[in-house]
Amino acid sequence: MSNRHSDLGSHLWDSSAIFRNAVTQFEQAATIMGLDPNIKERIKHPKRALIVSVPIRLDDGTVKVFEGYRVQHNITLGPGKGGIRFHPHVNLSEVAGLAMLMTMKCSLVGLPLGGAKGGIRVNASDLSRQEAQALTRRYTMEISSLLGPEKDIPAPDIGTDAQNMAWVMDTYSQQKGYAVPGVVTGKPIEVGGSLGRAESTSRGVVYTLEDSVKYLNAKGRGPFSVDSKATAAIQGFGKVGAIAAQELHDRGVKIIAVSDVQGAVINQRGLDVPALIQYTNSKGTVKGFPGAEALPLEQVLELAVDFLIPAAIDGAIDEHNVSRVKARIIAEGANGPITADAQKVLEEKGVFIIPDILCNAGGVIVSYFEWEQGLQSFFWSEEEVNKRLREVLARAFTKVIGSYEHYRCGMKEAALIASTETLSKAMLYRGLFP
Ligand code: NAD
Repeated sequence: MSNRHSDLGSHLWDSSAIFRNAVTQFEQAATIMGLDPNIKERIKHPKRALIVSVPIRLDDGTVKVFEGYRVQHNITLGPGKGGIRFHPHVNLSEVAGLAMLMTMKCSLVGLPLGGAKGGIRVNASDLSRQEAQALTRRYTMEISSLLGPEKDIPAPDIGTDAQNMAWVMDTYSQQKGYAVPGVVTGKPIEVGGSLGRAESTSRGVVYTLEDSVKYLNAKGRGPFSVDSKATAAIQGFGKVGAIAAQELHDRGVKIIAVSDVQGAVINQRGLDVPALIQYTNSKGTVKGFPGAEALPLEQVLELAVDFLIPAAIDGAIDEHNVSRVKARIIAEGANGPITADAQKVLEEKGVFIIPDILCNAGGVIVSYFEWEQGLQSFFWSEEEVNKRLREVLARAFTKVIGSYEHYRCGMKEAALIASTETLSKAMLYRGLFP
């Protein structure tokens, strides 16, 4: 390649580990499947990004300006789809990496949606309700040129919830002059949310775990079971981790240990999960939960359990702690919780990884159901939502296993291959403009 065409400017995107990991893992998959190099080059680059300053008046009367982002990684298959993260370390590159994962996730599970992500550099727990509302509304206004039911549809992520989504919906609708529920998903039921959305990511985690157990048993790699004979540990006790714990507890699985950002607790006989959720709702943390002992934070990832569910942050399992990980199946509840290097070590040890773009896709699948219900103004029962969620995930699981067996690669690569097969065909049919 001549100097004129050298890769100038890529530092804007690749300054975060999550973006570099997403690209590295994609490149590994592209090599295994023999992907068209032109398509590979295009998928490595996000389509567009907007950086905005978000000024709000704090409760003490001062004005503070926060930095916000929205990245659309690829919108070949349909409108951009992806959450809005409120976190003090959010940056453009991290948002771009997460947007890329959304592209791969939507394509893998067969949704007519592209990949996007947004974020604001802020510690959500420092904000009063009034400040959070002002920040969400002003951010929505600043990025509204990108948004719309046919263009880009946000959802909750770390630090945001159904209330934030209601403010996004209202701000966008105020600008239009009429209610536009399809502009955002993860809304409260009363403003067009879907039954089962709040639980969907965690249910998806558990459904893919059940499918994996069935598959591994059939291949003589068990025995595993999702019942009282099984043990689990969960990192992160937020929207994904806590409900996954409840779903597994309902099936009899012993949840030995959980953690959040403030602390970790352990009980070898199994935690009383409903009591722990009640405790967390009142104290804001699992730390100090009676009926369990305190555990150093990092050790939650290092216990000898059947199932480990990292459901907090990216890069949780990396080259520093991977040698101490003893779980037999890891279900990636979070986005990008295992680095590319650590993944290799785990797979060499025979650990079965359920990749994020499959494992936590339940959220975007039910987001799609919510969007579709909103467009039709016809709402489904929770049983209907769960039944369809299970069907979509089972189909995606079968696709991933197809690639896993065909290419004899790792599960991460298999998921990316299955996803890229669909996306690359669509990109080739649409061609390169102009
Ligand atoms: P959340 O903000 O509700 O919960 C995050 C949890 O992780 C909190 O309990 C927090 O205390 C904990 N945590 C943060 N840093 C930690 C650390 N260093 N050690 C231990 N715990 C830590 O967020 P969430 O929506 O549950 O998202 C968690 C992960 O799942 C993220 O990677 C997110 O992108 C991914 N995800 C979420 C959804 C969804 O529908 N909410 C869907 C797909 C993927």
